[in-house]
Amino acid sequence: MGSFTLDEHLSHSLGDWFSAAAPPMVAQSMPVNQSLATVAYIVAAVLFIFSLAGLSHQTTARRGNSLGIIGMLLAIGATLFGVMSGGYTWLAIAIVPAVLIGAVLANRVPIKQMPEMVAILHSFVGLAAVLVGISSHLEPGITVPPGEQLIHEIEIFVGVFIGAITFTGSIVAFLKFRETISGRAVLIPGRHGFNLLLAVICIGLGIWFCRVDTAAAMTPLLLMTAIAGVIGIHIVMAIGGADMPVVVSMLNSYSGWAAAAAGFMLKNHLLIVTGALVGSSGAILSYIMCAAMNRNFLSVILGGFGNTGGQSADAIEGTVKEFNVDETVDLLNESQSIVIVPGYGMAVAQAQHSLAEIVQLLLKRDKEVRFAIHPVAGRLPGHMNVLLAEANVPYDIVLEMDEINEDMSDTDAILVIGANDIVNPAALDDPNSPIAGMPVIEVWTAKTCVVMKRGLATGYAGVGNPLFYKDNTFMLFGDAKKNVDAILRALETAQ
Ligand code: NDP
Repeated sequence: MGSFTLDEHLSHSLGDWFSAAAPPMVAQSMPVNQSLATVAYIVAAVLFIFSLAGLSHQTTARRGNSLGIIGMLLAIGATLFGVMSGGYTWLAIAIVPAVLIGAVLANRVPIKQMPEMVAILHSFVGLAAVLVGISSHLEPGITVPPGEQLIHEIEIFVGVFIGAITFTGSIVAFLKFRETISGRAVLIPGRHGFNLLLAVICIGLGIWFCRVDTAAAMTPLLLMTAIAGVIGIHIVMAIGGADMPVVVSMLNSYSGWAAAAAGFMLKNHLLIVTGALVGSSGAILSYIMCAAMNRNFLSVILGGFGNTGGQSADAIEGTVKEFNVDETVDLLNESQSIVIVPGYGMAVAQAQHSLAEIVQLLLKRDKEVRFAIHPVAGRLPGHMNVLLAEANVPYDIVLEMDEINEDMSDTDAILVIGANDIVNPAALDDPNSPIAGMPVIEVWTAKTCVVMKRGLATGYAGVGNPLFYKDNTFMLFGDAKKNVDAILRALETAQ
């Protein structure tokens, strides 16, 4: 899982950078510089491909990241000095503050707010594609051969369409992740028909756009932009609950195609290649995530998930049993095989560093300690991998759900830290549950399971969790960081 996660992070940043780095001006009068720029673009494209390959594994991720940065610098340099022939002041006015704002925000953003940052960055790519498309319509900046005028117009229309959907869809995703608006699916009656109607109107506007002169074509272009914006809002509003991870990667993919479309408009080959890399890696990521969640891609995109079905927390019968910190420490001391399942609550509490120290202590005591990572744990693909890598947890004890799930029944103790949906047995037992069919980590099959969270609240999908009521489950209530710290102190004292 970590692999496609990192790909996604790189790919969206590639898209963002290149939407900014490729100006709509290709100087035909600088053949030498332009040839050098072409070579630099090819090298940059190759570096991006190696970068993606490097990012496919945690051990090579740093190298992959460095290759991506070098490729990006090369591409920007080639654009500045090989392709552009002026306008540097305007460019500096746009780029310098943007670089500073981006650097400050990226440094400041806590990892738990990464999904919203990724979403807002995708919206910038969408907006860039819309602006490039409209300006390219008004002033192509390239010589369009007479026979290719229609193709150029279609490129503009399609690029603006995808860009507008990406822009508004990403803003809605951003607001959902920020919890400014509810994360639940908003379903209007006849929504599929509504989307279809809007799409048909856009096709009609496209025909109008291609048939009239530049000035008159602005009306259908702007109308289509507004309608595509509504489609973007509507599509993402209709997706809720646990399907949001797929939306992130889907918007990532859209932003890539929007960048590729901008590349066609500007006849910028690197932008086309980069956009295609982003678009296809995002699409592959969406597919892998759907497979991991046992969801059909089309049903995710059509939305409607997360509003109905499933047991509410109150409806589940049974008794909740509690453990305190000392009892949890006793369990760890008595157990030989231990599996830790982290979730969103660990990210919120920032418990990973103390947890890593606990793991070191237990490993020193010759216990088998492993992490089980669910593909959609947290709020971002690979969220848990990033946090554990940040805390220097050795990669070889961090296993994907598929690698470790069948060992659960042979495990003495499981610590579930701030996870909920990803360990919900209702996904397997309750066909009416909104998360029915989603593979989950089967923690309840272990000898003893301790769930660390503050209360019995539901997780992202808003579904009650029968795990908390199982005979072999004990709840350790409270903030994950506080409890993990307390466990660490108790283990250290007992050394
Ligand atoms: P969940 O959202 O299911 O549950 C997290 C739990 O953490 C909550 O129930 C909450 O319970 C607990 N919690 C919150 N703060 C703390 C804290 N400070 N200390 C201890 N516990 C805390 O998380 P999971 O990781 O299990 O599942 C991820 C969910 O998010 C899935 O439904 C997934 O589909 C969805 N999602 C995933 C994305 C991804 O790409 N990974 C993106 C978007 C959504 P309490 O309040 O009782 O403490």
